[in-house]
Amino acid sequence: RSGGWRAEEMARELEERCAAPGMEGLRRIAGEMSAEMAAGLAEDGESKVKMLVTFVDNLPAGSEKGLFYALDLGGTNFRVLRLQLGGKERHIVKQESREVSIPPHLMVGTSAELFGFIASELARFVDSEGGDFRLPEGRQRELGFTFSFPVRQFSIASGILIKWTKGFSIEDGVGEDVVAELTKAMEKQGVDMRVAVLVNDTVGTLAGGRYHDEDVAVAVILGTGTNAAYVEKAHAIPKWNGLYPKSGNMVINMEWGNFWSSDLPITEYDQELDAESLNPGEQIFEKLISGMYLGEIVRRVLLKMAKEAALFGDTVPAKLKTPFILRTPDISAMHHDTTPDLKIVEKKLKENLEITNTSVKTRKLVVKVCDIIAKRAARLAAAGIAGILKKQGRDTRGDGEKRTAVAIDGGLFEHYKEFRECLKSTLEELLGEAASRSVVVKLANDGSGIGAALLAASHSQYN
Ligand code: ADP
Ligand code: MG
Repeated sequence: RSGGWRAEEMARELEERCAAPGMEGLRRIAGEMSAEMAAGLAEDGESKVKMLVTFVDNLPAGSEKGLFYALDLGGTNFRVLRLQLGGKERHIVKQESREVSIPPHLMVGTSAELFGFIASELARFVDSEGGDFRLPEGRQRELGFTFSFPVRQFSIASGILIKWTKGFSIEDGVGEDVVAELTKAMEKQGVDMRVAVLVNDTVGTLAGGRYHDEDVAVAVILGTGTNAAYVEKAHAIPKWNGLYPKSGNMVINMEWGNFWSSDLPITEYDQELDAESLNPGEQIFEKLISGMYLGEIVRRVLLKMAKEAALFGDTVPAKLKTPFILRTPDISAMHHDTTPDLKIVEKKLKENLEITNTSVKTRKLVVKVCDIIAKRAARLAAAGIAGILKKQGRDTRGDGEKRTAVAIDGGLFEHYKEFRECLKSTLEELLGEAASRSVVVKLANDGSGIGAALLAASHSQYN
């Protein structure tokens, strides 16, 4: 047998393993997600999913008015934005934002450095505020802070960091109140602004989604990391011992990235990735699904194929041994290559990995690996969403019953078409024809930042 043949066999084995749960397995995973959710709501520490109470008991209604800022700290980028809200009739009158990528050394430095950098970018952005944004005389600017890491909240505008994820490893941030840290850094930069709300990006996306569509009841992030939030009945949260919210509802930040089930199709590549990660044993669902990891999984598969089946010739390409050198946007570009002899794959392999002289057959196999890994991720994400709908009792609604909208934000969902289509079709299949007619999945672009600004408006000190 030629080397190429062995590589094809390896791809087939990988595909079999990754698709192993089948529809039945995905349904089981959905059921387990739903059960883990209930356990996490019953008592802290009872579940892999933390089911964090967010103190958001009302979502935007559309009547919000005034100038509000938001700061969205995700995993790769952070975004500052301002909105001029015009109330029921005029909605978002004007919106401006700026996106800044986080310098890698700040992800592993001190929290004072990270927050200092964020505050300085915010200061520059505030300085650029034009005349068409209006703050009434004598008022302080207000900000919604979207912070996409697990936080235990004590109020709508305070909370301590539980752990860093997504490649952040900052020793001294854990256990600190992130709002206090941001406020301190803003003061140092001379920014006079009050942090009105602290929200997770999932909660921001839920709020931003609801503003545009009143049926939005679930929000999912599929970007650098993955997570979800949804509207829960307050009486279904046994661990909640605060005041019973008037609305009867509470938004829950699931932290679903830490979900685990024995039905998850974990391979040797995933195990090795996890073992060598900054947070071994944690965020296993996230490591199978999110943008930070998909490219890296593909790299690991290709490396093994290079070693054991001479996929790229007699020598193993040196670059292929570098962790995280293949990024998810790269595998997405290769996956979507429609040129007859896969010119984009050829180019990506050359530019990113210094691999030249590949045959079309080899390039096809590379695409196959991207397909296997991306579709496994999309199917698992769909199973997670089905689990939430099940928990809410929205997974079996038929025609004529109230629809449910799922707002999804994040670069992976937005830009990776094969992933997005596979997620949608798998969810439809999981829900069945009748129920899937009452569920709509939609892109909530930039929702996490907009939602935080909207929540800042509804929690303004001037209301
Ligand atoms: P964050 O998750 O940091 O808040 P985003 O929602 O913008 O940021 O998502 C960025 C992530 O989305 C990147 O880390 C990458 O994994 C993924 N991504 C960005 N562009 C693409 C693309 N073209 N194809 C696939 N994934 C992409
Ligand atoms: Mg984000």
